[in-house]
Amino acid sequence: MRCLVCDSAAVRPIGTSADWLAALPTSTSDERRGILARAGRAGWVADFVFLRCADCGFVRIDPQPDTALLGRFYAQYHATEKYAAKAPKKIRRARRRIQRLRSAVPGCSFIDVGCNVGFAVEAARIAGFTATGIDIDPDAVATARRQFPGCTFDTSDIAGFAAQGGRFDLVYCAEVIEHITDVRAFVAALSALTRDEGLLYLTTPDAGHIRVRNRFLSWDEVKPPEHLCWFSKSALRCAFEAAGFRIERFGLNMKPGIRMIARKLPDGDRTRA
Ligand SMILES: [Zn+2]
Repeated sequence: MRCLVCDSAAVRPIGTSADWLAALPTSTSDERRGILARAGRAGWVADFVFLRCADCGFVRIDPQPDTALLGRFYAQYHATEKYAAKAPKKIRRARRRIQRLRSAVPGCSFIDVGCNVGFAVEAARIAGFTATGIDIDPDAVATARRQFPGCTFDTSDIAGFAAQGGRFDLVYCAEVIEHITDVRAFVAALSALTRDEGLLYLTTPDAGHIRVRNRFLSWDEVKPPEHLCWFSKSALRCAFEAAGFRIERFGLNMKPGIRMIARKLPDGDRTRA
């Protein structure tokens, strides 16, 4: 068994699904229990181990649910309307974040990968970008189109969309990578979408954070099968450097979350590195 990120053989089990269930609060209002109930209705039996790579800190569940199961699971996901109610605040926040990156990118094309109902896409449009969002959830994309007609939205998955050949100056991917089963293919597609010298802004929970490192199973970001893998900063560095990025910085965060800013190197620079 090798690490899906760094290929190390030092992958160790750190707990089973039974350990995780035993550590959950008993309250049925706990988000993780709700997710589990929904996954059960989609036919998922929670029987897995958590594997952590001793070298890069990447954690995943094994075995992972298959694509058909995840399709059924997300088909029952109707959080869109509740989420849409938070619009103005979320757009303001995303706009501040995106505006700070505006002068550091070579052009003005923007894509949000996993855009949900499109807040960050609208924020990028306000910040002066030509803004696109993609999401695999057709309900979310329909809501996004209705709310933000000045932006472009597409229901493609990332690999299909990247294969169409579009390249972007700023690629934004917030709280998505932890939902992905094939992490390598996802990272490769993010790389394909990013223009040379363009920037990638990515956020995900931080499994290497001091607050959660030693109490992983009770961490509230551990909510399979919604979250299937958890990165540390070194795991992200490893995954994205291998895909042709240079990590510019990790944002400071007191909470266990990672904000990574990475620049896509032109081919020549990659060969020299
Ligand atoms: Zn690893």
